[in-house]
Amino acid sequence: MNILKWKYCPFCGSQDITHRANYLSCTKCDRGMYENVSATCSIALYTQEGQVVFCERAREPHKGKYDLPGGYVDPDESGVQCIAREIKEELDFDLIIDDIKLQMTAPEVSPLGHDLYTQFLDLNFIYQISQEDFKKMKALDDVASIRLVSFDELKTVELAWEHDKLAMQMLQSQLDGKR
Ligand SMILES: [Zn+2]
Repeated sequence: MNILKWKYCPFCGSQDITHRANYLSCTKCDRGMYENVSATCSIALYTQEGQVVFCERAREPHKGKYDLPGGYVDPDESGVQCIAREIKEELDFDLIIDDIKLQMTAPEVSPLGHDLYTQFLDLNFIYQISQEDFKKMKALDDVASIRLVSFDELKTVELAWEHDKLAMQMLQSQLDGKR
């Protein structure tokens, strides 16, 4: 929302506004609003062999770079409901709800072009798949293509988001601990 850049009260149009941290208040109409972050979900769909499904982004921001599948949480949706919906929309694949595990959460900023941006908190999940599962997946919606990436290959792939790098580090150390 970038309310720190706003010059007019969004309720009454007055210029008599003040900003304090992430809060905008209007002296004229006595209303105010917070700049809260949005919620997103992402998921590391990983194989027993230590590969993870990455998506080539078909749209801006970060078009052409790779990320874990996921997206913005809709109103009235839980994190698990969101990621199950996103995986159906983007990969035409049905997740088993009880097998979706929350791994970590991390804040990040998404550029919207010009000088605008969205601040969001990503909820990162993990979920084990088989090679057969991957073969059933299709690149749909805002995904240009999909591929399996091993932890070793990861440094050769241009990733869109810092939170995906953190999620992969965490998943790798967890899987290494099991071996
Ligand atoms: Zn006002």
